[in-house]
Amino acid sequence: DAKQQGRNTWHRYQGNKQRVTEASVLLRHDLHTALRDDQFELYYQPIVEAASGRIRGLEALIRWHHPERGMISPGVFIPLAEQTGQIIPLGRWILRRVCQDAAAMHVAGKRVVPVAVNISSLQFRRTGFIEDVQRALDAASLSPEHLELEVTESVLLDGAEQAIELIDQLKAMGIKVALDDFGTGFSSLSYLRDLPIHKVKLDRAFIKDITTDRHDAAIVQGIITIAHHLDLVVVAEGIEEEEQQQDLIRRHCDLLQGFRFARPMPREAVMALPDRLPSFAET
Ligand code: C2E
Ligand code: MG
Ligand code: MG
Ligand code: MG
Repeated sequence: DAKQQGRNTWHRYQGNKQRVTEASVLLRHDLHTALRDDQFELYYQPIVEAASGRIRGLEALIRWHHPERGMISPGVFIPLAEQTGQIIPLGRWILRRVCQDAAAMHVAGKRVVPVAVNISSLQFRRTGFIEDVQRALDAASLSPEHLELEVTESVLLDGAEQAIELIDQLKAMGIKVALDDFGTGFSSLSYLRDLPIHKVKLDRAFIKDITTDRHDAAIVQGIITIAHHLDLVVVAEGIEEEEQQQDLIRRHCDLLQGFRFARPMPREAVMALPDRLPSFAET
């Protein structure tokens, strides 16, 4: 009967929940040794100019090669690292490694384009963040215009003033800041106006059905138009199909990122890519 069924569902739910919790506890524990044992790797995904297909930037995306579980997605372990505070040493390591990788690519005469690093809000708002960034640049002798930071609207959680001040400081150092995943969560148009950012990244959720859902298309077009009037560069994330690419080109989106052009890949693979990615050859 319904009651019995309800109870089964509840037990199943409890069971799942418990398994999920146990898995998180284990992962949290493993995070402690992962940095020490060098289990993290940085991948880089090209960001191309919509008009030409030329690589204009890279986004650094972390990968965890877990000794027993294989590759674990950052979507899983970054939130755990945020809960435990591990994101602070991990975030510092990421900044240093990205700056080193960028400098190494330049030395090899390859991919002299800005590299974007995702910054967790916790890391961003923590005292000493600006100094960490400066130290990472100095250690790699990387000039600041080659580093970009991606933050989400959650940096505003404890009030906009502090975030604005931090972004202003970064700007004064020559580092650009992009607003990531725009349009989802608690994004507000006033952030585009108030934050001293230079770029906005449209979340993949709006790009997915852009060619079939006129509401998604309307939102994307609206954000592109508003962003351009505010002198912001617009990047679309998650382009997988040619039709999405054509649609975004028609809507004057500036930069495109997605599996259609290139997946995230190790530094060596990025260095071997041509300047202009093949998906544009025929367009
Ligand atoms: P994000 O910053 O929005 O990064 C873009 C995500 O979309 C990446 O997932 C990328 O692999 C994926 N992606 C790119 N193109 C496509 C596409 O065409 N189709 C699909 N389905 N996906 C695409 P990834 O690498 O799994 O990272 C997930 C999230 O984890 C990132 O979202 C970011 O929020 C976080 N993250 C990744 N690396 C770092 C890091 O080094 N530090 C911090 N704090 N967070 C990171
Ligand atoms: Mg990002
Ligand atoms: Mg994003
Ligand atoms: Mg995201």
